[in-house]
Amino acid sequence: MEFIISRRNFIKMTSAATAGLMLAPLAYNTKNNVYAAADSVSYGGHDIPLLYEAEICILGGGPSGVAAAVSAGKMGKTTVLIEKGITLGGLQTMGNVIPCMTTWAPGSDTAFVTELKKQLEKYGIDYNDHNEKSEVGIWTNPEALSFIYDEMCQEANTEILYNTVFVDAITKNGAITACIVQTIAGLRAVKAKTFIDCSGDAILSRSAGVPSEHGFEKTGNNQPMSFRFEMGGIDLERVYQYVTVELGDDFCPTRPPHYEFAEARHRTKQYVLEKFMVDGINSGELTEEDAEYMQAFAIVGKPGTISMNCPELPLKYSASDPVSYSRGVRAGRQMIHRISQYFIKHMPGFEHAYLAKEASMLGARESWRIKGKYYLVEDDYHNQSRFKDAVARTAWFIDAHGEKVSEKLPKGAYYEIPYRSLITNEISNLIVAGRCISASFILQASMRIQLTCMSIGEAAGIAAAWGLQHNIAANSIEWDKIPETTRNYVSM
Ligand SMILES: Cc1cc2nc3c(=O)[nH]c(=O)nc-3n(C[C@H](O)[C@H](O)[C@H](O)COP(=O)(O)OP(=O)(O)OC[C@H]3O[C@@H](n4cnc5c(N)ncnc54)[C@H](O)[C@@H]3O)c2cc1C
Repeated sequence: MEFIISRRNFIKMTSAATAGLMLAPLAYNTKNNVYAAADSVSYGGHDIPLLYEAEICILGGGPSGVAAAVSAGKMGKTTVLIEKGITLGGLQTMGNVIPCMTTWAPGSDTAFVTELKKQLEKYGIDYNDHNEKSEVGIWTNPEALSFIYDEMCQEANTEILYNTVFVDAITKNGAITACIVQTIAGLRAVKAKTFIDCSGDAILSRSAGVPSEHGFEKTGNNQPMSFRFEMGGIDLERVYQYVTVELGDDFCPTRPPHYEFAEARHRTKQYVLEKFMVDGINSGELTEEDAEYMQAFAIVGKPGTISMNCPELPLKYSASDPVSYSRGVRAGRQMIHRISQYFIKHMPGFEHAYLAKEASMLGARESWRIKGKYYLVEDDYHNQSRFKDAVARTAWFIDAHGEKVSEKLPKGAYYEIPYRSLITNEISNLIVAGRCISASFILQASMRIQLTCMSIGEAAGIAAAWGLQHNIAANSIEWDKIPETTRNYVSM
């Protein structure tokens, strides 16, 4: 039996769905088990079938996008999250980027972060190393996050469009009316009242005409990308004995299962493991580039595995150039091969190790950033800036690989991120969250850590929902006018 919903019935259904906090796709054909559109949007001379008409549409399911989707959904708004992969988590899952670093800012945990910790505990992940010197805020693993984020979105009644790539934004009178997306069924349109750009690359904002920038203003270079990978079959206790006990490396204050080791030749600090990597250059097993930066984190919940935060790709491979990005994939894969072989051959504890998994997206630390109503700069870090419209606080140091690594702020100090760095002058119904907010290259190198991106995304979801409830355009919302009980963060 075929079941195509008429436009009138759809409106009735979405009202009902809204009351029950559910978003239904426009039409469902039970015969073919596919969603078929009952309406269309004109784009490039074609009628593009309309797939969803939501109140809030979020692009990008990374840490900021998931937080935005969960908070918007929980506030009763019909919400759809568009993600090009088939897992949520963005760099955390597809980029193998774990663990979540600490913000170093006391009291920075917003409700989403607290809930994530609860969910990890429920899942059986020993996320807390209980060491105040530890740089890690949450130890976790990609598979746990994929599962937990999916569940959190389901509980918040957020629809997820997986395997769906954003193509373009349609704008009218300074507002986005619809997104064109590439789905498994072809091009489709998604309409919404408010859009949140959590793409990391500000692709929705740029398509809608928002000014942006990329790279360091002094060199034009993006931060270097890394092609992360996992290794399995490791005797982590043996690694700990060798690196921490025998070599006397005091880099990691914790011990297995919460353990890491590293070296970074571009830093002034001389790391104990620098010699280990330089020996590889001297023997011809590694290149200078392979040995530039090496870091490895134990993967909590996956015994015997380690997540390599390397290789770091040379700067000629750019996060904002499609051709050099693609060439970087091949170069990075060759680097992974050399580094993993070198470890298997020479690092005690890696005797039975193997390459377990390559990341399915390159690790872009920075690509494009919007120019919004407030532009965060390095001084905001050093001056510990406070804002009455602050949505999050952080104190992670400036870590612009190769360009600048700042001193840490004094214990207990932090700066805040204002809502105005999430909104733009050009587009009234757009909020931007995550690593592509309005911030300079140097400042972004501090605010980009996952916990901060989550808190920013959470605020974006709250603002989007509250704005719709009160008929206030996203870029006219005064965050401090939202009741404190509704906000995820209130500046002191
Ligand atoms: C190598 C590396 C190491 C890092 N190390 C750490 C660390 O140890 N700890 C820490 O806390 N932080 C670390 N970070 C920083 C942190 O991981 C990121 O800054 C953070 O994940 C950014 O979150 P986000 O939500 O803004 O974007 P992302 O995580 O980049 O997510 C963006 C999402 O948008 C989706 N998307 C993009 N374009 C489209 C499109 N056109 N259509 C559909 N979907 C799209 C992507 O698939 C992705 O899921 C590291 C980053 C890198 C690159």
